[in-house]
Amino acid sequence: MQKVVVLGTGPAGLTAAIYLARASMKPLVIEGQEPGGQLTLTTEVENFPGFPDGIMGPELMDNMRKQAERFGSEFKRGWVTKVDLSQRPFTLTVDGLGEIKTEALIISTGASAKLLEIPGEKENIGRGVSTCATCDGFFFRGKKIIVVGGGDSAMEEANFLTKFATEVRVVHRRNELRASKIMQERAKNNPKITWSLNCTPVEVVAGEKGVTGLKVRNNETGQEEVLETDGIFVAIGHRPNTAFLEGQLETDDVGYIIVKPGTAETNIPGVFACGDVQDHKYRQAITAAGSGCMAALDCERYLEGQAVHDWSKTL
Ligand code: NAP
Repeated sequence: MQKVVVLGTGPAGLTAAIYLARASMKPLVIEGQEPGGQLTLTTEVENFPGFPDGIMGPELMDNMRKQAERFGSEFKRGWVTKVDLSQRPFTLTVDGLGEIKTEALIISTGASAKLLEIPGEKENIGRGVSTCATCDGFFFRGKKIIVVGGGDSAMEEANFLTKFATEVRVVHRRNELRASKIMQERAKNNPKITWSLNCTPVEVVAGEKGVTGLKVRNNETGQEEVLETDGIFVAIGHRPNTAFLEGQLETDDVGYIIVKPGTAETNIPGVFACGDVQDHKYRQAITAAGSGCMAALDCERYLEGQAVHDWSKTL
């Protein structure tokens, strides 16, 4: 029986853990398949306040974890397959850990990379298709790469991949990029980056040794062509990791958990959400960390309220 369980170890979950641990709540933090979350898949983080020279994503997450441990957070590795939020204490079924009961729950399971869902894509993941430039860029030294997407992630990955590739082609379905001005400019000023705008990817073309091309359709002319490439990095955004909730919490159409404005409270008292799992708008490490702090403070107040309530019942 736990007082509070935190699901997820990105900036939101770890910040919540730091605050809870400092308030002597001894949180149990469950780490999933991507400990540290998306920041462990990135290189340099230049916009997290307090690091004027930037800091590497994995190092930042490692520091946050150590800070949470220092105050008494307990970490366990496991995969939550089922939750029962219909009665308190809540029950979590965790692969490798069994059943865990908890008085309060903080969900910070983040979001995962979206795929294009086109023929040839899934079967070639690890054979030339990737969703993580930081993880796989090294394997494309001296090769040609395509990055799909027009947002900040695509620009960041394209720039990063020019360290390895001879040419990086950005394929985007519209004529305009969604990315912020500064990221666009960096990519546009990079001589190794070429552009296929207004092009929709329709098929990943592969041979025995892996990816050889990406078939795209020009949205103006309707014409299809195969762009030759050794690797395809899909950078088209993310999907919230909420499938395990099986509809027990209120979410939006896409699956992002809905919290009461200005709080981390979900529609079930005692269940809180923070980070990318409830934020499709800002999705920054600093906003995730901020919402993790809110979740911890809301949770602390909730548990204090419960304690007062239980005490009055015994009178
Ligand atoms: P995003 O802003 O949602 O952009 C996704 C891109 O992929 C869009 O250009 C979109 O096209 C395209 N796309 C989506 N689904 C597609 C599909 N099925 N087929 C083809 N293209 C598709 O996602 P993001 O780039 O991952 O960024 C997410 C958030 O993180 C943003 O707030 C961003 O600012 C932030 N971020 C910041 C940094 C940084 O500051 N260093 C780095 C990375 C991300 P449309 O434009 O046509 O919709």
